[in-house]
Amino acid sequence: MTQQCLANAKLATLAGDGYGLVAAGAVVTEGERIVWAGPESALPPAHAHIPRRDMGGRLVTPAPIDCHTHLVFGGDRAREFALRLEGASYEEIARAGGGILSTVKATREADEATLLARALPRLDALITEGVTTLEVKSGYGLDLETELRMLRVARRLADERKVRIRTTHLCAHACPPQYAGRKDAFIDEICIPSLRAAHAEGLVDAVDGFCEGIAFDTEQIARVFDTARALGLPVKLHAEQLTHQGGTALAASYGALSADHVEYATEADARAMAESGTVAVILPGAFYTLHEKQLPPIAAFREHGVPMALSTDCNPGSSPLTSILLAMNMGCTLFRLTPAEALRGVTVNAARALGLDDCGRIAPGLRADLAVWDVDDPAELAWRIGFNPLHERIFGGVSC
Ligand SMILES: [Zn+2]
Repeated sequence: MTQQCLANAKLATLAGDGYGLVAAGAVVTEGERIVWAGPESALPPAHAHIPRRDMGGRLVTPAPIDCHTHLVFGGDRAREFALRLEGASYEEIARAGGGILSTVKATREADEATLLARALPRLDALITEGVTTLEVKSGYGLDLETELRMLRVARRLADERKVRIRTTHLCAHACPPQYAGRKDAFIDEICIPSLRAAHAEGLVDAVDGFCEGIAFDTEQIARVFDTARALGLPVKLHAEQLTHQGGTALAASYGALSADHVEYATEADARAMAESGTVAVILPGAFYTLHEKQLPPIAAFREHGVPMALSTDCNPGSSPLTSILLAMNMGCTLFRLTPAEALRGVTVNAARALGLDDCGRIAPGLRADLAVWDVDDPAELAWRIGFNPLHERIFGGVSC
């Protein structure tokens, strides 16, 4: 197995509560795994023979993980963006064929090759910033066939690029027009059968829903979660984004991996999340795009020890964002996260939001998914806007 020793590096291992810095550090990898990390002066004799690769004093972190994306979709919403800025109302945009249903229509019309070709540039933008693991959701099909096609395309991304993909079934995302006023029927006739079919095909790593006045209520989401539980699949939920609906408490009661957005979550929700080990996934791109005003309860999350992750929420409507570094900056600027919280949010806590315990930190036994940055201080990663200091991306021990 290929062994390498990254030497003369500043390590942010993410051990403990902060960066877990090691000033003059080294990382030894063997094949896909990290076998040793620590101060270079303490390198064990067993690893002394491995040729050292000089990192020039650069910062080495776990590679970023984007734990909440809708990366696969058809069409775009640029025209709608323009219309809105020209003063069109939501109703006018909907009448002109805009909104989420326009993405549903375009996604249904796109074949697998088209969806893949459209998703790859977005994936490449994330890879350029060092991302090695990302989550991709379905949810723009809202019918069995298209939900499955989206998830197949998501899986194929890992054949096309050196990246790890986690797939999430999100059929309970929006109610299509033919089920208007019959959301329960949509859950029973489409969401649950498509979840079973996607699971049978091995396409589902987790199950998600959108709990909101404009989407589904807690009882409808609970029926989807009950099916997920019966299939042995973990759950997560878009919750408390625009109003307080009780989705976070529901998610916590199912031991959800994460509750995402959570702007309207309460202190009681934070306590419930802490007890269930549910990660709060903070999505500043959507907050920014929608000009939201309600800040997520960051102080309550801190006080109760709720792990916070940060993600792009890459999607064509509310967050057309494909920069994990900008998500970090926005998390700090809009939500007052510290730069250390922002880095933890795209590494150790993002891994946890995906139910992964083999990445997101620099420690023996974990995957050698690393990012080498041309920065002196780790806070620089969240500080700059529109600047990419990535020097090298390492995926499973291989520089790529
Ligand atoms: Zn989302």
